Amino acid sequence: MHNFDSIHNVTTLPIGEGRLEVVCGPMFSGKTEELLRRVRRAMIAHQPTVLIKPATDTRYAINEVVSHDKNAMPSKVVSTSKEILNSLEVDGRSALVVAIDEAQFFDDDLPDVCNELANRGLRVIVAGLDLDFTGEPFGSMPRLLALAEEVTKLHAVCVETGRAAHFSHRIAGGTDTVELGEKDRYVPLARHAYVMFRSQEEESKNEQESKSSK
Ligand code: ADP
Ligand code: MG
Repeated sequence: MHNFDSIHNVTTLPIGEGRLEVVCGPMFSGKTEELLRRVRRAMIAHQPTVLIKPATDTRYAINEVVSHDKNAMPSKVVSTSKEILNSLEVDGRSALVVAIDEAQFFDDDLPDVCNELANRGLRVIVAGLDLDFTGEPFGSMPRLLALAEEVTKLHAVCVETGRAAHFSHRIAGGTDTVELGEKDRYVPLARHAYVMFRSQEEESKNEQESKSSK
């Protein structure tokens, strides 16, 4: 028989349980849903859990993590990665689970901060875009992916083909890597649709450049 009482004794979680999990994929792939699901389960297990998001993410709500399906949970908001180290108290207890959304928006210290927390014995779950809209690795996600014990790659549904989408294609806005937006600005695409749209864009840019130089 299992002794279910032991589940409440989580503050004695032995050192060595610490781990880093990364959930990644394009926009609309369900990263936030998956992060919230893991947070909910940790709370069911009575593990003191903090949910954190960067101050730059002002979509929907200031101090809530909200998914595209409008599921929401209260979160702490930090401006720098190091602030996470001072945001670990939950109802007078020290967090054992730290969940971080929109990891790609954080500064370069995030992988070291997550590693440090995992080394201290905390379970760290990070969700973020693995690629930016140009198809290049986003921010400190590559280091996080390498450091993680467990990586979950999710896919959205390609709006052109219905296939598994791995890319976030920007359909409006400028050329800055970070530009907040929703379906008005980004659509998930599978590889060949993404490659086709990007090369069409490149061609029309070249045409415009050659016209304006005449
Ligand atoms: P992410 O955090 O990866 O951007 P969310 O977890 O916030 O994604 O939202 C995922 C939800 O988005 C899905 O459950 C689905 O209801 C909705 N959704 C809207 N458009 C799409 C799409 N093209 N592909 C997949 N899911 C989509
Ligand atoms: Mg999200």
